[in-house]
Amino acid sequence: MNSELWGEDRYPALTAELRGDCTRCAGLCCTALWFSKSDGFPADKPSGVPCRHLRADWLCAIHDRLEERGCRGCRAYDCLGAGQRAAALCSGLRENGEPEGRAQLCAVFLTLVRLRQTLWYLVCAASLRPAGALLPGLERLIAEEQRLEAMLPQPLPAGAEEQWRKNADRTLRRAISLTQQQVLRGRPARQVRDGAGRRLRGSLTGADFGMGLLIAADLSGCVLTGANFLGADLRDADLRGADLSESIFLTQSQINAARGDGATRLPPRLKRPEWWCEKTR
Ligand code: SF4
Ligand code: SF4
Repeated sequence: MNSELWGEDRYPALTAELRGDCTRCAGLCCTALWFSKSDGFPADKPSGVPCRHLRADWLCAIHDRLEERGCRGCRAYDCLGAGQRAAALCSGLRENGEPEGRAQLCAVFLTLVRLRQTLWYLVCAASLRPAGALLPGLERLIAEEQRLEAMLPQPLPAGAEEQWRKNADRTLRRAISLTQQQVLRGRPARQVRDGAGRRLRGSLTGADFGMGLLIAADLSGCVLTGANFLGADLRDADLRGADLSESIFLTQSQINAARGDGATRLPPRLKRPEWWCEKTR
């Protein structure tokens, strides 16, 4: 791919590992996560309790009907490989029906989910050309994450995860700023914190949607070069025909939760959901 912003993937093995493999898991997202019916899950459920649709073989009994059963949240969810990693780290607990075993497995999974959400952004930033000067720091942060993961299933030292995240957040903010400088060439970045239900038009190059509310926003046909989507809520956002190939800090969960079509262009590492309509507008 000929890209102004994206260079080579410096961590192909990690990129591959940051994909959920439900066949090597133990239905951990369906057990460990708290979820609510209003967010597209089957019912309100506390953390640690298995969903009623989880089968004895740890697979979902309604996997092929998630949309029609009102479970869009399940369809969009992506654990970034935390599920199979937790199952492997706690293999002795996987078959253990004891409540303590299950609680420990869930705790390890939730720690891995938190670590890997930030790891995903760090791995993306490492191949971002404008952030080249940050590479040594990014490599240290990625190595530190791997060191924290290797300590599991033992509890992490007090404060270690928080300190690592603080350092990572600082570096990621710098990567966003360097990207904006490159694509905007001195023009101010447009900030959108609340775009819910709005039709967003005009220049969105280098726009900052970080942590923004973009539920049901209309971004169809927009060119979003250098736009930052870190933590933005894209549920039901219209991405049909949008060019996100040079957008930064998008995740597979965000893409899965949005609407797109065969003409939507995605950045490296992200896959077009098979349920997106192939037809263009
Ligand atoms: S935690 Fe991840 S790997 Fe496990 S069932 Fe959920 S999505 Fe699949
Ligand atoms: S409906 Fe299926 S995918 Fe969703 S939580 Fe329940 S078992 Fe998991």
